[in-house]
Amino acid sequence: MPHAILIIDDSTTARELIRDTVEETGLFATYHEAANGSEGIDILCRHAVDVVLCDLEMPGMGGLALLAQMSAVEALREIPVILLTGNGNQTEKIRCLGQGASDYVTKPFHPGELMARIRVQLKIKALQDSLRESNRQLEKLSTTDPLTGLANRRHFMDRLHTAFLQSQRTGMTLALIMLDLDHFKAVNDSRGHLGGDQVLREVADLLDCQMRPYDLAARIGGEEFAIILPEIDRPVALGVAERLRELTESHLFLPPANGLKLTASFGVSATPVDSVESLIRSADAALYRAKHQGRNRVESLPG
Ligand code: GH3
Ligand code: MG
Ligand code: MG
Ligand code: MG
Repeated sequence: MPHAILIIDDSTTARELIRDTVEETGLFATYHEAANGSEGIDILCRHAVDVVLCDLEMPGMGGLALLAQMSAVEALREIPVILLTGNGNQTEKIRCLGQGASDYVTKPFHPGELMARIRVQLKIKALQDSLRESNRQLEKLSTTDPLTGLANRRHFMDRLHTAFLQSQRTGMTLALIMLDLDHFKAVNDSRGHLGGDQVLREVADLLDCQMRPYDLAARIGGEEFAIILPEIDRPVALGVAERLRELTESHLFLPPANGLKLTASFGVSATPVDSVESLIRSADAALYRAKHQGRNRVESLPG
C-alpha cells in the first residue's frame, strides 16, 4: 500500500535533503511538507499520513508542542513521529521519547539510519492498525447476532443494565418489550430452515427500522426478540408494541417465505421496578399471558 509522509522543518534546505533521502526508499507515494508545527497539524487534519518527520526546534510551534497537540486529537494520536534532534543531547532525546515521539534521529542524519528508522515505524504502524481492526471486528462479533445483525443476548443484557442504572439516576422511565414469533415451528416445517432464517432476518429488519437511535433491538433467543426503550413509559411502550404487532401481521415476506402469514406475541414492562431481573420477569410473564390469551397480542402486567 502506498504511504504518505509529512516532513516538518523550518529550513527549506533541510526539508529538501530529507525528501531526497526518503525518496530513495520508494516507500512513499505522497509527500507533504510544513515549515512548523501548526502548519503540520493543519496538514494532518486534512490528509492521511503514515509517518511524520519533525524538526525539534522551529519558530512558532516546535516538535514537542506538535507532539502535545497530536496526542490530544484521537485521530492523530497513533501516527508515528520521528523527531530530528540536535546531536549528543541525551536529556533532550529522553524528553522527546517521554513526550510521545516514536523515535528520534540526530542531525546531521545518516541517510541509511533515517531510512531504516522510518521503515521500523511504518512496520509498527501497520501492525497496530491491523490489531485495532481485529479488535474492532472481535468487538462487533461478540455483541452481534450473526443471523440478523441485531444485538445478541449478551449485549442486550449489558445495555439493559446500563439503561436501568441510567433510569435510576435520572428518574426517567425505561420500558422493555419482549416478543416471540407465533407458531414458528410451523414456518420451518412449511418453508424449510432457510425460509425460517429468512423470516427471522426480515422480522429483525422490521424491528430495527422502527427504533430510535438510542433504543436497542436484540435477538435474545431462537425466535425471541427484545427491545430496550429508554425514556419511554408503559403506555407509550404498549403503543410501540402494538405498532410492531400490526407491522408483523401485515408484513409481506420475500421468497421462500412469500405468502406467509406471521404473527408475534408481545410482553411489555416498564419502570418503576426494583431490578433489571424484575423488569425482564414482568415482560416475560406478560408475553406468556399473550401466548395463553390466543397469541398475536400485546400484554402488560399491572406494575
Ligand atoms: P409459540 O407460538 O408457542 O411460540 O410456538 P413456536 O413454534 O414459535 O415455539 P417453539 O418454542 O415450540 O419453537 C420455536 C422454533 O423456532 C423451534 C426452532 O426450530 C425454531 N428456531 C429457533 N432458532 C432458529 C433459527 O435460528 N432458525 C430457524 N429457521 N428456526 C429457529
Ligand atoms: Mg530548526
Ligand atoms: Mg420461543
Ligand atoms: Mg414462538
